[in-house]
Amino acid sequence: MRDRGRSLVDFICPPRVIPRGDRIEAAAEPNGVTVRVEPNNLQLIGNELAIVWNDGSESYLPLELLRRACPCASCGGEPDVLGKVERPQVSYTPASYELAGWQLVGGYAVQPRWSDGHGTGIYSYQYLRRLAAAA
Ligand SMILES: [Zn+2]
Repeated sequence: MRDRGRSLVDFICPPRVIPRGDRIEAAAEPNGVTVRVEPNNLQLIGNELAIVWNDGSESYLPLELLRRACPCASCGGEPDVLGKVERPQVSYTPASYELAGWQLVGGYAVQPRWSDGHGTGIYSYQYLRRLAAAA
């Protein structure tokens, strides 16, 4: 290996800084503080479900992503603890990605009703936020 010696760059290199993204993620899920996150408003905008949360943040969930992530037993979209998703064979039609309506369940979840008649998936608020963060 060739020794290039010390150049001026070695002295003026700035110290490593924490990337901005890391701080935002830490703020989104504060440790030790239990904040009950609920939607203030749900709205269908185009082909996305828009959610305004009571902490002021907003989530936009494309309907196709939302449907494919349906956590009910027959769709099995929710990843297990290891993050693996074992999906059963599910066939979709264009109506599968159309939202016919939804209802809030037990103060912790949203149950969408899809235009193809499917409506057994219960999406917890936490799950919705996780989905939106990954979208
Ligand atoms: Zn389902």
